[in-house]
Amino acid sequence: MTTAIHDTQTRIREERSGESRNNGSQRRAAAAVPPSESPVVEGKSLYQNVTTQFNRAADLMRLDPDVRKILAQTKNELVVNFPVKMNNGHVEMFTGYRVQHNDALGPFKGGLRFHPDVRLDEVRALAAWMTWKCAVAGIPFGGAKGGIQMDPSRYSAPELERITRRFAYALGDNIGPEYDIPAPDVNTNAQIMAWILDTYASTVPPHERQRNIHVVTGKPIEAGGSVGRDKATGQGVVYTIQEWATDKGLSLEGMTFIVQGYGNVGSWAARLLTRLGARLIAVEDVTGGVRHPEGIDPEDLLRYARVHGGVFRYPRGEFVDHIMFMQTPADIFIPAAMENQITGQTAPWLNVRLVAEGANGPTDPDADEVLRNRGIDLIPDILCNSGGVIVSYFEWLQNKRSEFWDIEEVDAKLHKRITTAYRKVRDKAVELDTDWRTAAYVIALTRLETVYKERGIFP
Ligand code: GLU
Repeated sequence: MTTAIHDTQTRIREERSGESRNNGSQRRAAAAVPPSESPVVEGKSLYQNVTTQFNRAADLMRLDPDVRKILAQTKNELVVNFPVKMNNGHVEMFTGYRVQHNDALGPFKGGLRFHPDVRLDEVRALAAWMTWKCAVAGIPFGGAKGGIQMDPSRYSAPELERITRRFAYALGDNIGPEYDIPAPDVNTNAQIMAWILDTYASTVPPHERQRNIHVVTGKPIEAGGSVGRDKATGQGVVYTIQEWATDKGLSLEGMTFIVQGYGNVGSWAARLLTRLGARLIAVEDVTGGVRHPEGIDPEDLLRYARVHGGVFRYPRGEFVDHIMFMQTPADIFIPAAMENQITGQTAPWLNVRLVAEGANGPTDPDADEVLRNRGIDLIPDILCNSGGVIVSYFEWLQNKRSEFWDIEEVDAKLHKRITTAYRKVRDKAVELDTDWRTAAYVIALTRLETVYKERGIFP
């Protein structure tokens, strides 16, 4: 058994990245590989998607050309190869990444994922999305992302612990409570964060050991985590959907929705939306798809998926393949798995009114155009799934102040922050007569442009 959350993916590619830039706990490695050299493995690179989105907004708002140059690149890129002893006594080598995109608004912030697809190009893109996401949410963080290229389901819990600790050690003080703060992402969870915290605290000088609990967020509650962090991303998705429904004069009662990915984000969004009266009618994950027009009980499905490793062959519904799943007529589609799921090819299949992006980067630029032309509403990832990092910020604040907020306080503060961001994006889209993704980027880039103008460029 493993301790990782088996967050769901809809594509798994095996590939090895050959890059190695840094072999251990050296301080703050500088950028090693320019984004233009990112390895494009199949189709478009993910960083190209970010760049296309960025350019669209930068052109529209006439972003300052110097600020544009800075934001078009990541700041630091760390690649570590490290050995871990396996249960069979042999050593296996792992490749880990941490990309720090920008810290103009505050310490670098973003998750760590364990997945076979993790590679430099993907991590760069995810790091940039964190910069925009924190800026849209108005929280004082920059953007980063990292991970290890591996399939965690292949390892035992003690092996995962050793892999995690050795990775944290290799990152060394390239992470830190006031410098770069990791959090859970695909296939990582509170337990993994606790191991990272413990490794970090055990390897800094003794007098610093008690002052760095906020080096990671998404920790278990007893280890300094925040209540409400586990469900925060899904909760944020639901808060934005509620705002959308209110704006449209619609009731969520009786609305139908479909979810791709049944890990932390997808399963929480499904449970919370069902509690508001909406009906979950189809779910797809890496193992397969299931559909039931009368509705699927999200709690029952979660229990099943935990036992069986996914939703495949869930008995209270019919099996559907990927195309059937994507074509399911529903009011709302929540992609909550991996990137590039809605493409120029798959976007025409959708039969929904709203796409609410629980995942990072699920829609590529070609698909954006298709959705726009088809009049399908879209709540973009950098707004829709920002609940996770917003509550990470709350956890970080509680740690710094030695406070413990209750769930009512966390939820109320999350609701206020994400609905405020939602309304700003909505109003900006109207003001500029543009789509919501571009509007969200304009808000983020305006904040970053302002701070660069105020602070200037060193020296
Ligand atoms: N991994 C989450 C995300 O993509 C949360 C990041 C965080 O809490 O720092 O937004």
